[in-house]
Amino acid sequence: MAAGKTSPKMTREYRTASADETIEVGRQIAKLLAAPSLVVLTGDLGAGKTTLVKGIAQGLQAAEEEDVTSPTFTLVHEYRGPSVNLFHIDLYRIDTPRELLTLGIDDLIDSHIILLIEWGEKFERFRREHDAEIAIRRVGEDEREITVVFTAETRRRGET
Ligand code: ADP
Ligand code: MG
Repeated sequence: MAAGKTSPKMTREYRTASADETIEVGRQIAKLLAAPSLVVLTGDLGAGKTTLVKGIAQGLQAAEEEDVTSPTFTLVHEYRGPSVNLFHIDLYRIDTPRELLTLGIDDLIDSHIILLIEWGEKFERFRREHDAEIAIRRVGEDEREITVVFTAETRRRGET
């Protein structure tokens, strides 16, 4: 997992006007992701993080959109695709580094996985160490602004 601090970044911006459009953006973003990667998803409650994951999971052929639900209580959901396994994690209810350790995220990391972490920015380690950050901002009742920032290393993998 690359520390992106000083490396050049590639940014993609999208604007959507419905949950379905956000799911479609998720499918597009899936094409830019390659395993292994750790992706932090930021945005307020109800911004559309889980909705976006529906599209990403579908794009990776790991799940149908209706099968993707919020891991708010279960904390970690796994979806298996033909080439990558997706782990969808929600840290909303996790408050301390000690609790974070009990999730065993480090044990998940291997060459064919993509981790999508909602509320990952709560922890210094994920602020420092991620391959991409996706920020979703509510700009109206149904309008959302979605900004994806990839580190240089992700871009290299994503473009080959
Ligand atoms: P989060 O995981 O960020 O808390 P969810 O994806 O669970 O958010 O919820 C987003 C809510 O906002 C859903 O009810 C969805 O239908 C609604 N919504 C309305 N417009 C949009 C949009 N453009 N993109 C994503 N979700 C939207
Ligand atoms: Mg969510």
